[in-house]
Amino acid sequence: MPECVFCKIGSRELQAMVVYEDPDFIAFRDINPMAPVHVLIIPKLHYESLAEFTAKDATLLGRMLLAATHIARQERIAESGYRLVINTGAHGGQAVSHVHMHLLGGRALQWPPG
Ligand code: 5GP
Ligand code: ZN
Repeated sequence: MPECVFCKIGSRELQAMVVYEDPDFIAFRDINPMAPVHVLIIPKLHYESLAEFTAKDATLLGRMLLAATHIARQERIAESGYRLVINTGAHGGQAVSHVHMHLLGGRALQWPPG
């Protein structure tokens, strides 16, 4: 998916404020942050959305969650708390068609979202 912005961030073709990277994932600060800490965690492989995942991706999904807990500690929000969000599809508000998990924290978040 050469035209995919998040693939390009994953391959370092496009710049981003990277806070975490391993062979399979990259995490970077959202360009339009909704909270003091707003990080996007993506697999480097292109998946359109969470809906594309199957049983063979279970380990990858689990590791994406664990990467988020690691970044939360790194960002010093593990104690105060945070929210993980995967917007999926049109009604889910997904704007970028490369699966990504939002890590939000650094302030009290409202519930429910709009
Ligand atoms: P979605 O609504 O798809 O769940 O969220 C996409 C998020 O990606 C938005 O919060 C948006 O601000 C962020 N975003 C879109 N393009 C870029 C980009 O080029 N760089 C970074 N760092 N964030 C982006
Ligand atoms: Zn992509």
